[in-house]
Amino acid sequence: MNPEPKETQSSGPSITDLRKLIDTVDDDLIRLLGERMKLSEEVGSAKTRDHGLPIFDPDREHELLERWVRIAETRELSPGVARGVLRELLDHSRRRQETQESGAGRGYRTWARRIGYQGEPEAYSDLAIQRLMPGVSTVERIGFATFTALFDALEHGAVDCILVPTENTTSGSIPETAALLIERRIVVLDEEIARIEHVLAGVPGSTPEAIRTVRSHSVALQQCRRALSRWPRLTIETSNDTAGAAREIAEAKDPSVAAICSVEAARRHGLAILTKNLADHRENYTRFFLVGKSDDPRTADPGEAHAHAKTSIVFSVRHVQGALAACLSVLADHDINLTRIESCPTPGRPWEYRLFTDLEGHAEDPRVREAIEKLGAHANHVRILGSYRNRTRISSNGTANGAGEAAPSFRPLRSTPSRSATRLIEARDSRPRTVVHVRDVAIGDGGFVLIAGPCAVESREQILEAARMAKRAGARMLRGGAYKPRTSPYSFQGLGDVGLDLLHEAGEVTGLPTVTEVLGTQFLDRIAERADMLQVGARNMQNFDLLRALGRVDRPVLLKRGMSATVDDLLHAAEYILAGGNQRVVLCERGIRTFETATRSTLDIAAIPVLRARTHLPIIVDPSHAAGKRELVIPLALASVAAGADGLIVEAHPRPEEALSDKEQALGPEDLEVLSSRLESILSAKGLGI
Ligand code: PEP
Ligand code: MN
Repeated sequence: MNPEPKETQSSGPSITDLRKLIDTVDDDLIRLLGERMKLSEEVGSAKTRDHGLPIFDPDREHELLERWVRIAETRELSPGVARGVLRELLDHSRRRQETQESGAGRGYRTWARRIGYQGEPEAYSDLAIQRLMPGVSTVERIGFATFTALFDALEHGAVDCILVPTENTTSGSIPETAALLIERRIVVLDEEIARIEHVLAGVPGSTPEAIRTVRSHSVALQQCRRALSRWPRLTIETSNDTAGAAREIAEAKDPSVAAICSVEAARRHGLAILTKNLADHRENYTRFFLVGKSDDPRTADPGEAHAHAKTSIVFSVRHVQGALAACLSVLADHDINLTRIESCPTPGRPWEYRLFTDLEGHAEDPRVREAIEKLGAHANHVRILGSYRNRTRISSNGTANGAGEAAPSFRPLRSTPSRSATRLIEARDSRPRTVVHVRDVAIGDGGFVLIAGPCAVESREQILEAARMAKRAGARMLRGGAYKPRTSPYSFQGLGDVGLDLLHEAGEVTGLPTVTEVLGTQFLDRIAERADMLQVGARNMQNFDLLRALGRVDRPVLLKRGMSATVDDLLHAAEYILAGGNQRVVLCERGIRTFETATRSTLDIAAIPVLRARTHLPIIVDPSHAAGKRELVIPLALASVAAGADGLIVEAHPRPEEALSDKEQALGPEDLEVLSSRLESILSAKGLGI
């Protein structure tokens, strides 16, 4: 590529001699940089061991930058260049100090040895791992062809952590990784910022003019759109990653094809650099997340409590006016600065979005924790993806980079309070009472909600009749089991998927939102797509796998009290769902097992005021399963309302005598009308209606 320059007949030193001099200066520079690095490591040890000081010291870095600029000016060097070089150096030193610090046994650097990324060696993600963990020779970097394969590898333990791009300052967010970060059980452990410098690389001997085809990752192509649009008759080809494109081009040896990749990838594959700085903007940075598994016990130790931390959360809001504004004002009221907010569509749920949000502060900082808890009152779903060291600081000239000065507004991390066992449930002081919306039905807003329908969906005719009958009696929601948890394996087990479709149809016809039981995690996705509310049955209240899975779903949950569960057990079960992110939980008292045999279960009326005092969640009562006998359902229902229940769920069948399950307790059409009118009189005394 670089032809030997011709020696001219001038009187000064030759270019070759000058280059030799440059090489000597470079040798000195590298030696001095090495010395500087050693000194910085010594400072690092002193900081952590002797003084317990944080690694990032913005005042010292600011002082250094000023000093470099002053010296640079005396040497006729551009202050910008001096600043740029020093920033790179400081950035690198800081990461080495972090590595050293982890030698003292903190954080992921002590255990993350196999780190996965999408792409091939020298892809930008691979380079970012090298940048994040400099000098750690024991780290194995493992490339995967797709992001899905990468997240699968993490899930199956083939790697300890993965590094994934999350946004780029030119092309924006990366929807594919956002979707995976939201869906998978992960925790964000750190972020890394890398300046992306694309080059056009071709086989040796090729020229920019000869190029007819350019191949690269779609995101890289997008970042070079302007440059590529100026090329005449260019064919654009997308590939899995930038480094892979470089390899393919080296293998094909076609001088008319070039790759957009890193200098390092071009070098690895012996390609010539045809054009540098190809990106439309010189300031082109990609932000990566280092991600671990949330159920990996090693990720529980966050390492240093970062004074300059950021937290990533994902939340979803209801489709009502002002819902998003309410969430944002909670954050603003707590002085929390958002560094990113982005809406991602929820796959399979048209026009539903999740808001991917990064904010300044650590999730364990009481101020941040309180804000996120309060956010739960306005959002359907809130999940913390992780807190990590803040590496994106906005420098005084407004450019984002990984090494700039810290904005002065960061607050140090205060003490970490211990978590109470049911902190989300019992956070009544920091949270108003939760109103759970199931489509347009509000449960827990001070009004009253009747849910009615058969124990099981038995046929189209039966569920449609039941739905109409429920609607006539003033019910606001329709119940019906599709998958039934029967005590005996010989009893009717429900119609399964067919039942789910029929329930959905009956809900559509009558306009009533539906609730149905989820027996296990394998049914979850299917039911979440077809039903409006997911019921956890009494027999499943401590199915922790199911509770955890429900925490990740953006659908309201009706959590029934287990037959031998205490109020505390019920609250802990609810806590699993809330802690997983899902804020829409309604508790249901349905009777417990006692020595009494006159009723199927003993309805624990006292649980209603007890729960009311201990949680912000709505409480409804199922008198049908408690009573087990038709004639007892109405009195128990009325007692529950008098005791302050937010609603009732009752079993009703158009022809109870024909019911395939729980026929003894099913209300017929007339019973349901009687219940409705008796409810009216109690409710009107409370100033409410059915
Ligand atoms: C039901 O509601 O159909 C049911 C089985 O209830 P539980 O889980 O309360 O027994
Ligand atoms: Mn039943």
